[in-house]
Amino acid sequence: MRTIGPKLVIATHNSGKLREIRELMEPFGIECVGAAELDLPEPEETGTTFVDNADLKARQAADLSGLPALADDSGLAVDALGGRPGIFSARWAEDEAGNRDWARAMERVWREVEAQGPDAGHDAHFVCALALAWPEDGQAESFEGKVYGTLVWPPRGDRGFGYDPMFVPVGGEQTFGEMEPAAKHAISHRADAFAKLVKWLGG
Ligand code: IMP
Repeated sequence: MRTIGPKLVIATHNSGKLREIRELMEPFGIECVGAAELDLPEPEETGTTFVDNADLKARQAADLSGLPALADDSGLAVDALGGRPGIFSARWAEDEAGNRDWARAMERVWREVEAQGPDAGHDAHFVCALALAWPEDGQAESFEGKVYGTLVWPPRGDRGFGYDPMFVPVGGEQTFGEMEPAAKHAISHRADAFAKLVKWLGG
């Protein structure tokens, strides 16, 4: 087992993610610094799995900063689509100009599921991969979290983000877009992955 304190680079340019991760790491006495603060570039996500992509982001940040680094990668996997959009979840939302439109992404998912025929199931899951990398020897550790559920149409709710309005977790009735944020965060793929990371840290 490796230690990661006292300073950790969070390989994200997303300030929301940085804040969440910082709050999670505080109890362990780990100071988090964002990739943007260190002027680190955003690498191209060339991996074929969530773990690969989290891993390459963490490795690059560790190599460039000389500090341990943590990165995440997440997305929606639909059973009837063989796991797509998967690592391309954000890309399915992009229009020709590169702007993200989540209504467009959800419509594409639903259209492709419908195209599978009347027997196509609506099962899906969100995945979150977290990767920790150290600069000295290229070692990395990864953790994967999931939450299972069903896709619904039309989308419901304006909370959350991304594919939340079309996803109802197993055992629930509301979509992630309708639920209280705290209720989503208690069961989400991200919470699951972080629980595994925190357990590894000895928390
Ligand atoms: P990234 O990990 O920031 O690249 O995000 C991947 C994409 O997956 C997001 O832009 C969303 O489309 C989707 N995604 C990941 N997590 C969630 C979630 O909790 N709710 C809805 N969509 C999500």
